[in-house]
Amino acid sequence: MLRLTTFAILACSTPVLAQEINVYSHRQPELIQPLVDAFTAETGIKVNVAFVDKGMAERLVAEGDRSPADLILTVDIARLMQVVEAGVTQPVQSDVLEANIPETLRDPGDQWFGLTSRARIVYASKERVAPGEITTYEDLASEKWKGRLCTRSGLSDYNIALLGAMIVHHDEAYATTWAAGLKANLAKKPDGGDRDQVKAIAAGECDIAIGNTYYIGQMLADPEQAPAAEMVNIVFPTFEGGGTHLNISGVAMTRSAPNRENALAFMEWLSGDTAQKIYAETNHEFPVKPGVERSALVASWGEFTADPIPLAEIAAQRAAALKIMETVNFDG
Ligand code: FE
Repeated sequence: MLRLTTFAILACSTPVLAQEINVYSHRQPELIQPLVDAFTAETGIKVNVAFVDKGMAERLVAEGDRSPADLILTVDIARLMQVVEAGVTQPVQSDVLEANIPETLRDPGDQWFGLTSRARIVYASKERVAPGEITTYEDLASEKWKGRLCTRSGLSDYNIALLGAMIVHHDEAYATTWAAGLKANLAKKPDGGDRDQVKAIAAGECDIAIGNTYYIGQMLADPEQAPAAEMVNIVFPTFEGGGTHLNISGVAMTRSAPNRENALAFMEWLSGDTAQKIYAETNHEFPVKPGVERSALVASWGEFTADPIPLAEIAAQRAAALKIMETVNFDG
């Protein structure tokens, strides 16, 4: 009996699971590494990151309950919803996450949590667009921009979310007319990423473009791309009667999560001051935690009013938005 008890104590004092967690990340390894290093230095918990470019949900479905993944890190509300809808995540209740992340930037069902936000804004030529010339998303469809607008594919997650928000603010009929107006204003067929639209403005191919804030930060930090970025102003349009459209990068816990406790510790840490500051400084995203400062560059762009519509409502319009982009043959 005594020997059994001793064995039981020994067994308890030996960690059953290694102090490590496994993350499937859609985010670039260069961005995640500084976060991982700081977390490991602070807690001793090792973080193994597998970069998953495509097919995150499919991979987790295929791996099922044997998946080694504890957490999923990705961008865009649509991708977060995809893993939730695929049934490969689990809800997480945490006072820390609730305190650090504003309600509009996390799932009411606790399946996903925003860790950074970014605004989808207008890049405007410093030479050819006067300050104050564009103030609303609705105005992007106005005839005065005919032949002057550039954007990436209408089917890209970022543009689908923006269109989803337009549906919520108005209705599907209005959003269809708006998307058709946008298409009519295009200087060229949608192509490339947001950075390519900045380059197109610099090359004189268009005067305004739709893009995410942080790409300007990335371009300014790159000697080759900085000259193009220097040629555009950042404009924060609003919806009529609303604010500027935000999207997120975020995290979800997998259903299988073999290292649940440590994974939760990492999630909470990512929403805390140290990590929020790293996100702000290395990628020029907006911290979600109130009180954490934006990078000096992002702060220099000035204040804006964030659109109050919860991301979950925008995500719910994804199918309708995709249909509209097909109806107006946006990329055609
Ligand atoms: Fe991006």
